[in-house]
Amino acid sequence: MAKRDYYEVLGVSKGASADEIKKAYRKLSKQYHPDINKEAGADEKFKEISEAYEVLSDASKRAQYDQYGHVDPNQGFGGGGSYGGGFGGQGFGGFEDIFDTFFGGGGSARQDPSAPRQGSDMQYTMRLKFKEAIFGKDAEIEIPREESCDTCHGSGAKPGTHPEKCSHCGGKGSINVEQNTPFGRIVNKRTCQYCNGTGKEIKEKCDTCHGSGRITKTKKIKLKVPAGVDDGQQMRVAGEGEGGINGGPNGDLYVVFVVSRDDFFEREGNDIYVEVPLTFVQATLGDEIDVPTVHGKVRLKIPAGTQTGTTFRLRNKGVPHLRGNGTGDQHVIVKVIVPKKLDDKQKDILREFAATTGDRVDENTEGFFDKMKKAFKGE
Ligand SMILES: [Zn+2]
Ligand SMILES: [Zn+2]
Repeated sequence: MAKRDYYEVLGVSKGASADEIKKAYRKLSKQYHPDINKEAGADEKFKEISEAYEVLSDASKRAQYDQYGHVDPNQGFGGGGSYGGGFGGQGFGGFEDIFDTFFGGGGSARQDPSAPRQGSDMQYTMRLKFKEAIFGKDAEIEIPREESCDTCHGSGAKPGTHPEKCSHCGGKGSINVEQNTPFGRIVNKRTCQYCNGTGKEIKEKCDTCHGSGRITKTKKIKLKVPAGVDDGQQMRVAGEGEGGINGGPNGDLYVVFVVSRDDFFEREGNDIYVEVPLTFVQATLGDEIDVPTVHGKVRLKIPAGTQTGTTFRLRNKGVPHLRGNGTGDQHVIVKVIVPKKLDDKQKDILREFAATTGDRVDENTEGFFDKMKKAFKGE
């Protein structure tokens, strides 16, 4: 039912003075007072006059009425049908709705302190020895993580008691703070400082978690480190992060691998590189040698005349591929070692050897020495 304009009800103009309003009210209230006027509808009329006078006789209520007009109590203003709730004060619940309208309405659901939320993700650094990363291993780790308190099942309240709605924010976890600025009235949602945004007030706190509802537990987790992981790679272990809040799912655990280096083997992706020494006699005459690989020793044939720096490839003797089939290779780089300490007999043999060849050791070196001689002559 549409309300009549208060000025109209009292029969005064909008610019009427307080005195004019008072006079109009007195005249009309006498005319329609239920004790005097027994006509049908006089009762309603009297109430209408009283309500109009209640507002227009109060300077601040009149100012609000002039600005906003009638306000349906069901739409907020919390004043039980009149402005008695303190317009502009805490009773102005309507701002909540306005706020939600401005911010798409999703805001209140997202900020609902009792909504289930996923626990935080956690990171754990696992150190692996060189070969553990190559072949994988079964590991058990211990991580301290936050979980829901067993004693109170996360409520934070002593068993047998229940958390109550925070009396400061009415259980919303946030409080609207209104501010008048030169640009108009601004409403900010602030986290309720009395309940820290939980919306709950705990009268009797759980002895185990002291009211937080959360405890830190050291959890043992069994892990299978896959073969082929490399330094800096990480593995996600779903659901092993921190415990969820309000029944939400756990976060995830990320295990980051730090792989130690090896003195002999050098890894590059799925391939392994090693340096193997050869005596100049082995390199010259050829030989068969044992080469260490991560998979055990492998026999390698060194052809006669092998130069220092020559690389041999041992197929499938590297690192297993982390995803899919296959294994990398091992690359064997030979280094020909020049002897530093020779006894007289050895020196004599080498001098004898040199005398048989001159500076031309074989057909490969001939061209090389010819080029150098030309360089000396400046040709
Ligand atoms: Zn507890
Ligand atoms: Zn609160």
